[in-house]
Amino acid sequence: MSEFDLIRRYFTRATPGAVLGVGDDAALLQVGAGNVLAVSTDMLVAGTHFLPDADPFLLGHKTLAVNLSDMAAMGAKPRWATLAIAMPEADEPWLERFSAGLFALAQQHGVELVGGDTTRGPLNLCVTILGEVPPQQALCRDGAQVGDEIWVSGQLGDAALALAHLQGEVVLGAEQFAACAPALHSPQPRIALGLALRGIAHSAIDISDGLLADLGHILDASQVGAEIGFGALPVSDTLSTLSRAVAHPSPVNGTRAGFREACFPPPESAGHGRPAVGRGAGAGGEGTLALRCILSGGDDYELCFTAAATRHDEVMRIGAQLGLPLARIGRIVAGRGCAVHDAAGDPIDIEICGYDHFR
Ligand code: ADP
Ligand code: MG
Repeated sequence: MSEFDLIRRYFTRATPGAVLGVGDDAALLQVGAGNVLAVSTDMLVAGTHFLPDADPFLLGHKTLAVNLSDMAAMGAKPRWATLAIAMPEADEPWLERFSAGLFALAQQHGVELVGGDTTRGPLNLCVTILGEVPPQQALCRDGAQVGDEIWVSGQLGDAALALAHLQGEVVLGAEQFAACAPALHSPQPRIALGLALRGIAHSAIDISDGLLADLGHILDASQVGAEIGFGALPVSDTLSTLSRAVAHPSPVNGTRAGFREACFPPPESAGHGRPAVGRGAGAGGEGTLALRCILSGGDDYELCFTAAATRHDEVMRIGAQLGLPLARIGRIVAGRGCAVHDAAGDPIDIEICGYDHFR
């Protein structure tokens, strides 16, 4: 099939929200009065961001989801997208499933595909997402204020845990894997939350590189610090069980010794740069892995945001209305950097748990 037949068959749908959609040299788009365009691009490369044999429906979903997540983090309403796709050959069953996954999520969020580019090459997927937001209400990274509460949506670390299982770093039971795999394969962009936080959140970011790294971007941009309670971090039952070696250190070792043992992998499994994670061998290794997933695992695409403590009840109400758990995980403080405390109030050394400030 020709390139044009392919575009017509798999990537052309009605675009009533565009002045002109797919088919000409450029799309024509009209932004609503009082709004500005929010534009963001994310590329997914085979072998780097997904395995070449990934389920094409889920891949279509995720390709758009990671872009929608950026709109959510800006408090923008996503309207349009373009798709640049390179693929080795026109594999029609693959294209059918990929476009079905992409359009299913697009429809769910009222997003129209208005253009793109199609070329032969190693599998590579690049979406540019375009949304609208009144400029004063955009949720930027530089707005966090001392005294703000820090919030996180959903649960942290499940996507990283599922990936660790697929890569053989940990062996999960079938039910455990089934519980965390959706976070990795079909993340849900928190669009409704981003919109609801307009005028309430002082700052926001989506968690694509891990809580500490992404919260770190807010702290850097806002020139503030943060204090996080490890026990307040929202995690799944599986991760909570795995991290028990850390949360409830064995009395034999005492609190600090037990924690350190959980964080320091045995020397023979130590890697380069970041601590090696447990390879399914004992609670200490799994505790390290769990910490890494929770604090520096990426790919969950939850939102991390800050808001004045006076807006606490409003934020809670938003969570209830959306049916989306929102957890207050800490506070913005004067100074720089991020401190994480365990339940006893002792500082957790986040560097030995795989967090690299200079990554
Ligand atoms: P040009 O040669 O002007 O770049 P193309 O032949 O690349 O145009 O594309 C023709 C039309 O199809 C354009 O409107 C373009 O935006 C659209 N298009 C190309 N590839 C895709 C794609 N993968 N998804 C959506 N639209 C696409
Ligand atoms: Mg082109």
